[in-house]
Amino acid sequence: MLKGKVAIVTGGTRGIGYEIVRKYLANGAKVVLFGSRKESVDKALAKLKEENADWEVDGMYPALTDAAEVEKAVMDVKAKYGKLDILVNNAGISQSTKIYDYTAEEFDKVIDLNIKGVFYAILPAVKIMKEQGGGCLINTSSMVSISGQPAGVGYPASKFAVNGLTISLARELGPDKIRVNAVAPGVTKTDMVAALPEQMVQAISARIPLGRPGEPEEVANAFLYLASDMASYVTGEILSVDGASKA
Ligand code: NAD
Repeated sequence: MLKGKVAIVTGGTRGIGYEIVRKYLANGAKVVLFGSRKESVDKALAKLKEENADWEVDGMYPALTDAAEVEKAVMDVKAKYGKLDILVNNAGISQSTKIYDYTAEEFDKVIDLNIKGVFYAILPAVKIMKEQGGGCLINTSSMVSISGQPAGVGYPASKFAVNGLTISLARELGPDKIRVNAVAPGVTKTDMVAALPEQMVQAISARIPLGRPGEPEEVANAFLYLASDMASYVTGEILSVDGASKA
């Protein structure tokens, strides 16, 4: 489904991002995964190469909260592969702090990565895509961008912003043949969920109509669809993959 395409996936070393990388590689794309540390990037690359030595996968670890570093990394991908078809902005952190305990620094942390990090990667990517005649941006939102959540307000606030970027950029970039979509996962079995208080996970899971949390691979399938030509007329969409949790 992605034969010949070049993709960047941020936060591609584990969880949902890692499954997106695997899906894209298995469907013929060349992928550069961005992680936060050299060790985790090397580990993910080794695991992927072990699964299939023919997969064309590379890794980088720019600080996503540093606009200049991200720009350089994206431009390096273009220099190496000659183009950039797909940018997946998936790296993100969550929070569950009660409002009375919040600090400005903690709020800044989630905003810096989940919003500014997304924006910084988009800036160089859309210039490349416009010049080459099109491309595709996919952002990782969350179910809480629709429902909100009862603690850690910085996290849903950041994902509401991701939806705003997605819908607005779809309108602005349509004429340049750049599609912009987001996937809004529900509770998905990754390290992020393992880090949440057990009580919070149980309360959320009990309300999932499909009766279980999602698997990272089930979420990655939506990223495959949106990146592929099957979604050629889909843009400005926030696609929920949440077992109807927010309904
Ligand atoms: P995870 O913690 O397993 O993975 C997060 C990824 O982001 C990792 O690859 C990590 O290296 C990267 N990352 C974290 N901080 C970073 C930083 N400062 N700089 C660069 N990279 C950084 O989490 P996940 O569940 O796979 O989450 C992936 C995305 O899915 C996030 O945007 C998250 O908000 C979203 N999401 C997850 C769930 C869920 O239930 N797991 C639900 C809704 C949305």
